[in-house]
Amino acid sequence: MGKKAAEYIDKGLLVPDEVVEGIVESRLDMNDCKTGFLLDGFPRTVSQAESLANYMKQKGIKLDLVLSIEVDQENLIERFTGRRTCKQCGATFHIKFSPPKNPGICDKCNGKLIVRKDDETDTVKKRLKVYETTTAPLIDYYNRYQLLATVDGARPIDEVFEDIKRHLKGVKS
Ligand SMILES: [Zn+2]
Repeated sequence: MGKKAAEYIDKGLLVPDEVVEGIVESRLDMNDCKTGFLLDGFPRTVSQAESLANYMKQKGIKLDLVLSIEVDQENLIERFTGRRTCKQCGATFHIKFSPPKNPGICDKCNGKLIVRKDDETDTVKKRLKVYETTTAPLIDYYNRYQLLATVDGARPIDEVFEDIKRHLKGVKS
């Protein structure tokens, strides 16, 4: 990711559509995506979804499923602001849900754990506002194409994981 994209993320803003679309498309052109792929956190706007649809149409591939993992705002704020990221290796922890063995220190490399700029409370609140106005409309968008499945994300991770697997099994390869 270029420096420019990182600057938007730090501010809790979305990276401009054309920047993200370029990154995603060049990644999807790689060989390991030929047999299928899963996108996480993309698209985030209706315009990105339309661009993805165009790209896939050009390549003759079809979108099988869109998963919406739903968590209420209060819960989301707790999850994001409790997240700690290793400055050295990028591993993530959570002070409540998956704490490191030693507070503030990475289990994997002993690096220092920090709060990423986009996980700070004010930034998280801004991200949620951006979500409401620009990303939430995707729910209607994909519902219209009957591609959407919703998963209750406010449960223990293994239950959410099982639910996601169940939905993915319904997808023909
Ligand atoms: Zn680490």
